Amino acid sequence: LADNQQRYETIVKTLQQHQHKLTPQRLAIVRILAASVGHPTADAVYSQLKKDFPTMSLATVYRNIQLIKSLGEVLELGFADGSNRYDGNKPYPHPHLVCTLCAKITDPDLESLEKMKAELASETGYEVLTHRLDFFGICPDCQAETRGD
Ligand code: ZN
Ligand code: MN
Repeated sequence: LADNQQRYETIVKTLQQHQHKLTPQRLAIVRILAASVGHPTADAVYSQLKKDFPTMSLATVYRNIQLIKSLGEVLELGFADGSNRYDGNKPYPHPHLVCTLCAKITDPDLESLEKMKAELASETGYEVLTHRLDFFGICPDCQAETRGD
């Protein structure tokens, strides 16, 4: 994982470079996206902030996430059910592991990814620009719960 504080400062700097105001609400959203613990939904970001910013709306959170996304500083993981998740800690394409029981999303470190990209390129002749790689399964916590430990 990238350092949360470093990611926070990078996103703030990018916002400044594009002349976007650094309101306390916006900075609070950036703080959560920089850590992106568990890959939050916009709703989850909103829930974490509404105590400190009672007048802030979910639409404001959503707009800010889209703004930060448009600057390339947050990765959006789209899902068919519309519950999109966000990763501002690692804004570049990387594989994800999704638990189908608790919806937790983690970042596996896959050494074989570079090899896979090279193999794809040589097999197909494509110039591979990006990727989306999601694995679905049952996380260790949920496995333990199912077993009843
Ligand atoms: Zn789980
Ligand atoms: Mn991720």
